[in-house]
Amino acid sequence: MRPITESSIRGSFVNCSKGEAKRLGVPRDLDEQPWDDLDFLGWRDPGAPERGYLIAERDDGGLVGIALRAAPGAARGFTARSMCSLCLTTHTSGGVALMTARRTGEAGRLGNTVGQYLCTDLACSLYIRGRKQPVMGADFEETLSVDERAARARANVTAFIGKVLE
Ligand SMILES: [Zn+2]
Repeated sequence: MRPITESSIRGSFVNCSKGEAKRLGVPRDLDEQPWDDLDFLGWRDPGAPERGYLIAERDDGGLVGIALRAAPGAARGFTARSMCSLCLTTHTSGGVALMTARRTGEAGRLGNTVGQYLCTDLACSLYIRGRKQPVMGADFEETLSVDERAARARANVTAFIGKVLE
């Protein structure tokens, strides 16, 4: 994706209040993000560990930001494996978390959320490109190329955002 600034990040959120978008913790190292290798920007809030965020580019170049909350508890056994629903990387012991996003519009006001299992660090793009490795290593060989896996992850992000937007 193309490099984006703090103000464009804060202005992109669709499922939290303007006040929340203003206050939430944005990565300090935006200048050093590997933008060419990112299908979307994802991070955990250093000031609020249960919160995470992802910012994706729409086809028209606009940005969509989604605020996420990690579901509490439900720690699985150390050897339990879970798969991220965006990049399909398999992790053990906390490498995948159930993250929920409040839906927009009336559904959100009624408290409806969308939940998906995601890489806990939201670094899907880096796992796809081998810049980051899951703790236990991959347990199945992907037959897709990196480009195909990246395209699949982008399509999965778009589908996830579609469920958040009414
Ligand atoms: Zn992932």
